[in-house]
Amino acid sequence: GVTGSGKTEVYLQAIEHCLGVGRQVLVLIPEIGLTPQTLERFQRRFSVPVVILHSGLNDRERLDAWVAARDGEADIVIGTRSAIFTPLARPGLIVVDEEHDLSFKQQEGLRYNARDLAVYRAHLEQTPIILGSATPSLESLNNALNKRYTHLTLSQRAGGASHTQLKVLDSRDQPLHAGIAQGLISIMRSHLQQGNQVLVFLNRRGFAPAVLCHHCGQTVDCKSCERPFTYHKSQGRLQCHHCGASRRMPEQCSECHSHDLQTSGIGTEQLEQGLGQLFPDIKQVRIDSDAVKGKDKLITRLDEINARKYQLLVGTQILSKGHHFPHVTLVVVLDCDGALFSADFRAAEKLAQLITQLAGRAGRASKPGEMWLQTDNPGHPLLQDLINNGFAHFACQALQERKLGALPPYSSQAIFRAEAREAGLAANLLQQIRECYRPSVNAAKGQFIGPLPCLIEKRQGRFRYMLVLQSQQRAALHSWLKHHLQEVEALPLASKVRWSLDIDPVDLS
Ligand SMILES: [Zn+2]
Ligand SMILES: [Zn+2]
Ligand SMILES: [Zn+2]
Repeated sequence: GVTGSGKTEVYLQAIEHCLGVGRQVLVLIPEIGLTPQTLERFQRRFSVPVVILHSGLNDRERLDAWVAARDGEADIVIGTRSAIFTPLARPGLIVVDEEHDLSFKQQEGLRYNARDLAVYRAHLEQTPIILGSATPSLESLNNALNKRYTHLTLSQRAGGASHTQLKVLDSRDQPLHAGIAQGLISIMRSHLQQGNQVLVFLNRRGFAPAVLCHHCGQTVDCKSCERPFTYHKSQGRLQCHHCGASRRMPEQCSECHSHDLQTSGIGTEQLEQGLGQLFPDIKQVRIDSDAVKGKDKLITRLDEINARKYQLLVGTQILSKGHHFPHVTLVVVLDCDGALFSADFRAAEKLAQLITQLAGRAGRASKPGEMWLQTDNPGHPLLQDLINNGFAHFACQALQERKLGALPPYSSQAIFRAEAREAGLAANLLQQIRECYRPSVNAAKGQFIGPLPCLIEKRQGRFRYMLVLQSQQRAALHSWLKHHLQEVEALPLASKVRWSLDIDPVDLS
């Protein structure tokens, strides 16, 4: 269902039916999505006990909620991904809201995808399940098109609110102020003058993503990741966004000892400062994990935004996640060019989801909205398809491409990852793992990709490599994996090198 089409109302009516026959409901939501408004909406509608399970609870609170769910005292259980493991005395329905959201996948330790587990659990407990999204994952969309799932579509926005118009702004050869093209600044000004709110999206925290020597061009890099430090002006420090390491701003270049160090590129901190100069009379707020630490502060800021305390909203992807901003009439997306040329085959899907979700933030409450994408690649087929034909069409095209490339969901994947302080060791282990699996590659109709370096090749002093095993037959892939896993575990290198196996990976970084 398109954003604002009333998906929640559909959930609520299904829940009402389920409660009516004396069953419990489990509702899964993404990590950041749980706001008091969501909870309030459930409590206003149903006069039954509701418990919530999320990472912000202490052990006592979590235990109480868990027991209430298990004993059937709570009729509605709302929670983030780990809530999928909550036992229910009378299971009746599972709802997964924003099912495309990658926070449902736990990437470390016990790796699982709560959305996929929810589908399996509903199958085991023989209950219905609803997966909801304005921008469904290609995996779920494919299941719907194959009629494995029933496909229900909501194509109209509720309450007559109009769709946000998507437009591309060609920033080539345009003068930029604070990273914003001149043409966009006038558009922003006219929205602000009408008393509306404007949302400016930039997915990069900090003041500048790099500091470099004006004399020799050397960047100031994190030694253990071999990547440039991000400059955080408010703290006066450099921070590595890969490992979290932090240091003072150096006085001089480590290579040529020049004192002429300059920042390069723009992050949200600098954007906020630049917007303050462009629009000195407009109140603005920055929403990113540096400016807004903790759930309570985020909720306060979101309330203030909807009370129209600010007119300019600047922020990262936190702003794209399900929060409604009825007074925003203009969304500006800066710098989406990086994702257009990523080596991750899911990058296009993620960008299309992000853009569509952001567009859904604007133009509610019957105010027509517009959204501008600033890009140096205005003719890029992905952007053009999204603008002219919308997400559903984009998704069908993307599925065709996946089919041609035999990529998920038309094949299943598993990734062995290895990391070591010596690059050779990690690559070596994966090469040996490949040898373990090679004898039955044909029987599994399998295929190897790699070993090759991960997209982030080095982190915290460790070199990172991956080996992908894939097959168009899911069951064959899984028995192939199982069949040789003991040999892998018995490899002498396997006890020396940090490694993991990730089934259905969603992130190649
Ligand atoms: Zn940072
Ligand atoms: Zn230098
Ligand atoms: Zn680092």
